[in-house]
Amino acid sequence: MNRETEKKKGHHGRMYGRTDLFEEDRIDELLELIWTLREEGVLGLDQLLEMTQDVEAQAILRVMNRDGLFEMEDNRMVLRDRGEEKAREIIRRHRLTERLLREIFEMSEEQVEEEACKLEHILSPAVTDSVCTFLGHPPTCIHGKPIPRGECCFKFKKEIKPYVIPLDDLGLSEEGRIVFIAPRSHQRLDRLSTLGIAPGSIVRMHQKNPSHVLQIGETTIALDRDIVKDIYVKKV
Ligand SMILES: [Zn+2]
Ligand SMILES: [Zn+2]
Repeated sequence: MNRETEKKKGHHGRMYGRTDLFEEDRIDELLELIWTLREEGVLGLDQLLEMTQDVEAQAILRVMNRDGLFEMEDNRMVLRDRGEEKAREIIRRHRLTERLLREIFEMSEEQVEEEACKLEHILSPAVTDSVCTFLGHPPTCIHGKPIPRGECCFKFKKEIKPYVIPLDDLGLSEEGRIVFIAPRSHQRLDRLSTLGIAPGSIVRMHQKNPSHVLQIGETTIALDRDIVKDIYVKKV
């Protein structure tokens, strides 16, 4: 069980002792849980029932089965096409909201989780894509989990100027404030932060070829291209 799922359980505990939530939201919650469990390689119904705080999960699953969202196949939970699509959208909304609230609004992790759980049910597809574009189409959430791609990530939309851009898009001698680093590995994050490369730091692009050279404060450092790829900034 990872941190995200654990938190989720804790948070929804309050909400889910009740059964007056809209059925649609309860379906969303279960789709989300099925998706996150699957990311951890968990496909059994028992684990789902253990994790969910929805006391009527079985009944909701029956509705989902009837609606063609979900089925059991050899004791494994399977999302059918429509369920898969719906789950993808919820996960995408949740994880984008996490980034927005944490990095742009600088909320605490706890607040983020609470708000993201509410917003994931109400953001429209258009707003979701706007948030994604605004954030520079981040590949992962604040917990390092993949954010499912949306149409906006493939089609370049001009209406909204990204607020956050990949570090590599910074021009020579331009400065950017690091907004987030996609944490491919925590070790790497630790190492970067000892170099002063962490959210909030201001970096100046010195050189891009043959390698990336950045200035942070008084220090000049060279960075590998695959590390540069993980860093997102806002131009200052
Ligand atoms: Zn997350
Ligand atoms: Zn996008």
